[in-house]
Amino acid sequence: MVRQRLTVLGATGSIGVSTLDVVARHSDCFDIVALTGHQRIDQLAAQCKAHRPRFAVAGTLAGAQELTQRLGAEAEGITILHGPEALVTVAAMAETDTVMAAIVGAAGLPPTLAAASAGKRILLANKEALVMAGPVFMAEVHRSGAVLLPIDSEHNAIFQSLPSQYDGDMARSGVRRILLTASGGPFRTTPLADLSAVTPEQACAHPKWVMGRKISVDSATMMNKGLEVIEAHWLFNAAADDIQVVIHPQSVIHSLVQYVDGSVLAQLGNPDMRTPIAHALAYPERMESGVASLDLFQVAQLNFEKPDFARFPCLALAYQALRSGGNAPAVLNAANEEAVAAFLDRRLAFMAISDVVARTLAAIPFQPVTDLPAVLQADLAAREFARKTIEAAEHPAAA
Ligand code: NAD
Ligand code: MG
Repeated sequence: MVRQRLTVLGATGSIGVSTLDVVARHSDCFDIVALTGHQRIDQLAAQCKAHRPRFAVAGTLAGAQELTQRLGAEAEGITILHGPEALVTVAAMAETDTVMAAIVGAAGLPPTLAAASAGKRILLANKEALVMAGPVFMAEVHRSGAVLLPIDSEHNAIFQSLPSQYDGDMARSGVRRILLTASGGPFRTTPLADLSAVTPEQACAHPKWVMGRKISVDSATMMNKGLEVIEAHWLFNAAADDIQVVIHPQSVIHSLVQYVDGSVLAQLGNPDMRTPIAHALAYPERMESGVASLDLFQVAQLNFEKPDFARFPCLALAYQALRSGGNAPAVLNAANEEAVAAFLDRRLAFMAISDVVARTLAAIPFQPVTDLPAVLQADLAAREFARKTIEAAEHPAAA
């Protein structure tokens, strides 16, 4: 494998840690150019000691100072930066070939887009960036010749199940439909009446995957699957009607592609993000990931269900936003980020997350999005409206 110079945005998160785990198994294949982390500076320091990046980026000046202090003499040779502009710098710099985009949420958009504009090989975990800015992002990828490799397990599975020469034309490739699998999260069978009282701890206890808190809540509401429908639309140029969500509680089939001749191709594996990460890092080759082989005898059964849109209104809202286009996906994402943060903070009930998103989508007027400022404007307007809606929900008597 050709040696790659790799930047990991969001190195201290769940995906970041899994990425460095795979990288550590193949130290002859990678030079770490930059590692970034927002808050967990102790962890970022440990990663810097182990991987010796040329640049490290903390969230704030205080974080950068703490990092320098924690590294002591080992800071030698590492340029320590901080803040959102430094993220853009390390994502786009000439020293790097490959960027793992693993920051969570809208904060990941500017550096991920900068990597796209700079024509990097992008390993995309940060689905929110693509959801918010789909048309802008894809235009930059096509203009610069950037290579976009999906890390989200479903999209990685679809990528692996599509023809290798797939160019975004489903009809020409004989593709009829994309089937996006979903575990259904921790509340797939919880009585509806009990959902209003669920806690952040319950929502984050995903039955199959260990992930960051935000995506765990998104999995519990199935907004995660909604964001993934929009992500699939942009990655594979598939219309909303050609992307079907299938609940598959075992999380063994990571997604499927149906062809016009009746064939269905799928990718299977144990639910461990190191598989899609290793696939994208090594693509078009293959490398060991540390993931155990799938034992089909132990799996024994594969089940499938239709998603219940009444139980999971966020999924319906995401389809609605995709069909509306323009700023609607950015509004959906921003309102959801605010609502999930409020839920994790115990300021909003679980079932109110979809209400906040629905009201925000209805309130913010349609605008086309043709550039980053338009996307950020939609994001800001939606956050303001969502915050007010959340406050009103917190103090119902005062509303
Ligand atoms: P996480 O919360 O574990 O980690 C998030 C990372 O982003 C951390 O390194 C954190 O320091 C950084 N970060 C957070 N806020 C930031 C900010 N304002 N500025 C700069 N950096 C910031 O999240 P995760 O589970 O690793 O998810 C990362 C992304 O990957 C998300 O977009 C998620 O949807 C996607 N994803 C994750 C999984 C998974 O299994 N964890 C699977 C598929 C897709
Ligand atoms: Mg996924």
